[in-house]
Amino acid sequence: MIALNVIREYAKSISPEDIGRAHKCFEANGTPFYMVESSRDALVEHKVCWSKEHGFTCTCESGQRGFSNCRKGVCQHAIIAVAASAEEQAAMKEQIALNQPAPVSHVSSTEQSAPAWILNHPVASHMQLSPCEK
Ligand SMILES: [Zn+2]
Repeated sequence: MIALNVIREYAKSISPEDIGRAHKCFEANGTPFYMVESSRDALVEHKVCWSKEHGFTCTCESGQRGFSNCRKGVCQHAIIAVAASAEEQAAMKEQIALNQPAPVSHVSSTEQSAPAWILNHPVASHMQLSPCEK
């Protein structure tokens, strides 16, 4: 069985057009898989699955032969599925980063340690002439 990180390396050279041929689906039990459009026939899709026990499987001809004729150890569909998955994860990370609140640029130690009511309340009238209150 070929290591997933080797396929991830191959997946980096997949074009955005090819990634667009893959779409993620889910089994009834929630297990994800990819349907990848055939490069020869746009009406044909191959189902690419991955499991710990079997690694990649694909419903294409090569997949049915256990990828024995594939130079990279898996068919192009599996590599496209990995590329699509990587792209999806990158997009998710980006989305999470966008949802983070902007970092607070500068908070003085007084503002951090003092209770909010002290900072928000007006200065008492008898204290306004104090040298510290400006
Ligand atoms: Zn295949």
